[in-house]
Amino acid sequence: MEQDFLTLAKSDNLKLRLLEDSHYLCSRAEFAKWASGYKQMRMEYFYREMRKRTGVLMEGAEPAGGKWNFDADNRSAFPKAGPGDITPPAFFEPDEITQAVFAEVEASFPDHPGTLKNFAWPVTREQALQALDAFIENRFVNFGTYQDAMWTDTPFGWHSLVSSSINLHLLHPLEVIQKAEAAYRAGKVDVASAEGFVRQILGWREFMRGVYWLDMPKMRDDNHLQAELDLPKWFWTGNTQMNCLKDSIGQTLDYGYAHHIQRLMVIGNFALLAGLVPQQVEEWFLAVYVDAVEWVELPNVAGMALFANGGRFTSKPYIASGAYIKRMSNYCGGCKYDPAEKTGDKACPFTTLYWGFLDQHEKMLSANPRTGLMAKNIARLDEAQRRALRQKVADTFKNIEQL
Ligand SMILES: Cc1cc2nc3c(=O)[nH]c(=O)nc-3n(C[C@H](O)[C@H](O)[C@H](O)COP(=O)(O)OP(=O)(O)OC[C@H]3O[C@@H](n4cnc5c(N)ncnc54)[C@H](O)[C@@H]3O)c2cc1C
Ligand code: SF4
Repeated sequence: MEQDFLTLAKSDNLKLRLLEDSHYLCSRAEFAKWASGYKQMRMEYFYREMRKRTGVLMEGAEPAGGKWNFDADNRSAFPKAGPGDITPPAFFEPDEITQAVFAEVEASFPDHPGTLKNFAWPVTREQALQALDAFIENRFVNFGTYQDAMWTDTPFGWHSLVSSSINLHLLHPLEVIQKAEAAYRAGKVDVASAEGFVRQILGWREFMRGVYWLDMPKMRDDNHLQAELDLPKWFWTGNTQMNCLKDSIGQTLDYGYAHHIQRLMVIGNFALLAGLVPQQVEEWFLAVYVDAVEWVELPNVAGMALFANGGRFTSKPYIASGAYIKRMSNYCGGCKYDPAEKTGDKACPFTTLYWGFLDQHEKMLSANPRTGLMAKNIARLDEAQRRALRQKVADTFKNIEQL
């Protein structure tokens, strides 16, 4: 749209003044200036600058709690017995306007995937504030600990569900951050939860926006790994035997929501390992989530999940085998596949494709200190094991619609 405006202004010799969007904490020019100082952009350094600049979670010149980043404290799985009682998020009855929109959507797109029956998102400023306050009061306390945890039929975990409200400008990111900081200062949540939450909004969200404007329109065409497999049809139905994907895609179609680790380490991870065409994956992510807007969806999908921009801001591809999903969820317990197996009848497709990815990209992985260990693991396989693996990978690709 911006390019259309620029072209129009130029062709009709019109004077065009672009105003800064006050809904962000870092302007495009400020981000570009920051990025120009680095050969490789890293969110962590940008985030520290933003903390210093805004004074958020700072004690003078030092970060609150003595550390910039408590990521290591944000990775617990739910207990073996399950997540226990999670206070539900604030939900809202669709109002008259929303119902009128439902009727239009039903009439115009009767066959489209997804459902309207669970729609309960905030659609006004008042509702968005109510939802934010309810999160801070009831759910923030466990956000940090279980940020990465997944569990069957637990679509929201302890997450905030504020993305659609911020993206729709019903909430300003700074007021969300300030409420989170106030809860920490009042002793209602620990520093790991507070920092983990602030990092997502002050760090990742602003960073992604900056990268988007810096790298567009090239980012939309990027396909660094030359991935060429079509998106399986079951992405639009959730009808797969892989329990983790069935659950994550199923809740996506039911609620328009999946949390970050489901998007990154289940759905995105599969797309990366299977070599799905980035533009098809991007189209899917843009279509299915209530918070989807290209400036935030695209860098997350192309840059973070698919490595399609060749690691412009990530130090390595985010890949994991079924073992990671088993550790972080209960999905594997109810699955016909075995996360420990990479070949054989019960082999988990994630594990097969993970090893296949190591095999295919061994040279690239061994050249990167952060993935050197992965390359060493694949180098340990003997010829017969490699042959069996390659055969299983080929079968998996062939049967991708039936997985
Ligand atoms: C492949 C992929 C696609 C994504 N697509 C989108 C998208 O279209 N729109 C979108 O808003 N977010 C997207 N995200 C980021 C993130 O997954 C969602 O913002 C988050 O899951 C929304 O749920 P929540 O509000 O409960 O977030 P919480 O986990 O409670 O986090 C709080 C807030 O932090 C911000 N945030 C967290 N992670 C990110 C991130 N990586 N990038 C930008 N902001 C972040 C969001 O505003 C979010 O509401 C995507 C992530 C991945 C890996
Ligand atoms: S066994 Fe594999 S496919 Fe099944 S739930 Fe676990 S990770 Fe997913």
